[in-house]
Amino acid sequence: MSENRHITIIGAGLAGALLATLLARRGWSVDVYEKRGDPRVAGYAGGRSINLALAERGRHALRMADADAAVMGHAVMMRGRMVHFPDGRTDLQRYGRDDSEVIWSVHRGELNIVLLDIAEGAGVRLHFDLGLADVDFDRRMAVFATPDGVRREVAYESLVGADGAGSALRHAMATVADLGERVENLGHGYKELEIPPAADGSFRIEPNALHIWPRGRYMCIALPNDERTFTVTLFLPSSGEPSFETVRNGAEARAFFERDFADASALIPDLEHDFDAHPTGVLATLYLDRWHLRGDAVLLGDAAHAMVPFHGQGMNCAFEDCVALADHLERAPDREAAFAAFQRERLPNAQAIQQMALENYLEMRDRVDNEDYLLQRALERE
Ligand code: FAD
Repeated sequence: MSENRHITIIGAGLAGALLATLLARRGWSVDVYEKRGDPRVAGYAGGRSINLALAERGRHALRMADADAAVMGHAVMMRGRMVHFPDGRTDLQRYGRDDSEVIWSVHRGELNIVLLDIAEGAGVRLHFDLGLADVDFDRRMAVFATPDGVRREVAYESLVGADGAGSALRHAMATVADLGERVENLGHGYKELEIPPAADGSFRIEPNALHIWPRGRYMCIALPNDERTFTVTLFLPSSGEPSFETVRNGAEARAFFERDFADASALIPDLEHDFDAHPTGVLATLYLDRWHLRGDAVLLGDAAHAMVPFHGQGMNCAFEDCVALADHLERAPDREAAFAAFQRERLPNAQAIQQMALENYLEMRDRVDNEDYLLQRALERE
């Protein structure tokens, strides 16, 4: 591409930081604007350990940015699903035949910090506490606002929206073009809790597994952190019995855990506090027919295709987007062609993964403790 090689990325989260690095390494001049403060100074927002499953498709993208080794320094291997049955029995269902087919648990905050350091090292200019507030597409001016409301106009060549599911760039684009946006709520929410280390500092349960407590219409999962804690996520319907309408506070959550997740309940001493203090997250799938506006703006990651988390692929898919967009920007004759080719390649992929993520919720909560299913998996492993 022969035109000016400057690009403005909105959002210094997982996709924004990785894309910035990939482009800077190829000689692009990159500015990234982030609504929040610098997590390396202020601490990661919320201060809680929230982790993500990193799979091979995500690691491939990290390798392209020379970020894999630094990230893997914080990762914990997960060989398979450890299913916890209501009677306390457990069963490890391996993901593959051996440890060459595993996934990894990474701490979202640590991962973001590693990616920001690498981006800065590659020459990216990071601007924190500046959230995109508005865009004038005719004048090619983006308006950013500080947390106390001071507004700053910045000229741009093209904008890339890596600003997550509630993308401000997507909202701005939708004021000048029909993106075909649809949001489907799952009707289920989630709450994050924590299993602390044992008294001797070790993990309280098997560290090298993704733990699942499937219970039909609802479930709990737990992923290990390198500080020897586990982040537990309770997924529950928004209404009905049981739901977040009937399990409303810490005391009710404890009674619910004692009844349905007794072995997990014993592992979460601060369950009441965690339940009351942590927000209830909502789960939805975002579909768009269109991800770009000429060569002016393009969306990727959750801003383009937020999905429910049951396949553990939202971040992995966002990382793949970054590699694809950087490649198309390199190969295409101009930005509009690059954005169009990026959308052509990635939109069908994202929609397929969104569908698999929805299907996997049924599998995780309903089928992994079913005897027929277990038999079938055992035969597959023969
Ligand atoms: P984000 O990570 O949301 O980053 C967006 C960034 O933009 C943030 O830094 C935000 O502060 C910033 N921003 C927002 N608005 C503005 C603005 N106006 N101006 C400037 N900056 C702005 N994925 C996996 O692959 N594996 C998993 O195991 C997994 N588990 C999950 C569990 C849960 C409970 C949830 C909810 C999601 C999970 N995901 C998982 C999905 C994953 O979190 C997302 O797909 C991933 O974070 C998307 O990255 P992103 O960079 O597109 O968006």
